[in-house]
Amino acid sequence: MANLLAQPLPWQNEQWQRIFQQREAGQLAHALLLAGPPAVGKRIFARALGYALLCQSPSHGFACGECKACALLSAQTHPDFLWLAPEESGKAVKIDQVRQLVETMAQTAQQGGIKVVVVEPAEAMNRNSANALLKTLEEPTGNALLMLVTDAPGRLLPTIRSRCQRLEFPVPPLDVTRSWLALRGVEAAKLESVLAEADGKPLLASEFLDGEGFAARQELSAEMAAVLSRQMSAVTLAERWQQRDWQDLLKWLHVRLAQALRNKLGKLTVADVAVTELARAEPVALFALMDIVNGLLNQTQNGGNPNRQLAIETFLFSACDAVSRKTV
Ligand SMILES: [Zn+2]
Repeated sequence: MANLLAQPLPWQNEQWQRIFQQREAGQLAHALLLAGPPAVGKRIFARALGYALLCQSPSHGFACGECKACALLSAQTHPDFLWLAPEESGKAVKIDQVRQLVETMAQTAQQGGIKVVVVEPAEAMNRNSANALLKTLEEPTGNALLMLVTDAPGRLLPTIRSRCQRLEFPVPPLDVTRSWLALRGVEAAKLESVLAEADGKPLLASEFLDGEGFAARQELSAEMAAVLSRQMSAVTLAERWQQRDWQDLLKWLHVRLAQALRNKLGKLTVADVAVTELARAEPVALFALMDIVNGLLNQTQNGGNPNRQLAIETFLFSACDAVSRKTV
């Protein structure tokens, strides 16, 4: 039986090998911190690793998908596997949940092997929850593995970070993601625009291929390209954009500018109309535009409420200026 949930992704081989080498040497850490940007597959790795460690007859190092342990895992009733996430998306991991975790870690494994506990996203633990967890990390008991999954390791208590072995999950090379997505039989042009839109993040690109949120983001690109090529006025677009989700828009602009810069440096080639237009600007002008976006992001994250129409107009005028200076 194919057991896709129980295998790491193709770009995670190095991290996978490292963990199993440590395990063979009897040096598997008690706690791992799986850190990296969103949408690169950290959760998939955590699940696959937990399953492989609990499976009774792993096949080529992966969970077999057929034994009793695997059956319990896929029914989500394995007593030695605990997955802690906020009860509501975006909310905190509660202290009661962490107490349950601490209890599980302290018990002997019911199936006689290892106990595996995953907390994701780990930064969703508030101070009380984190402190409750800390005790377990300070005095690890028995045969147990704790995995903390995070997009924002900087938001964890330093005392927690320092007690975990850190595993980094960077955005995989574009070629690797391209080959992985190509397995879905997507036509090349579509694949390139999806990759660009997702900024190379494989699981986000995959979501876009499933049709989630892709069209709306493509519209942003087309609108921006229209302004930069003088087919639409900045004022008109600012009117439209001020109604969009403000933080999403700013983050989107940031990604686009970063892509334009990387395109100029020859590091990443993405096919996107807005990026192509932006890449006509000099790097120094692109950095200046990023400063504008960063300033707005900081202001917003600190509770500020800028005049959006004006802020977008200012940004777009500067962007038009930046791309036209090059062509004169
Ligand atoms: Zn199995």
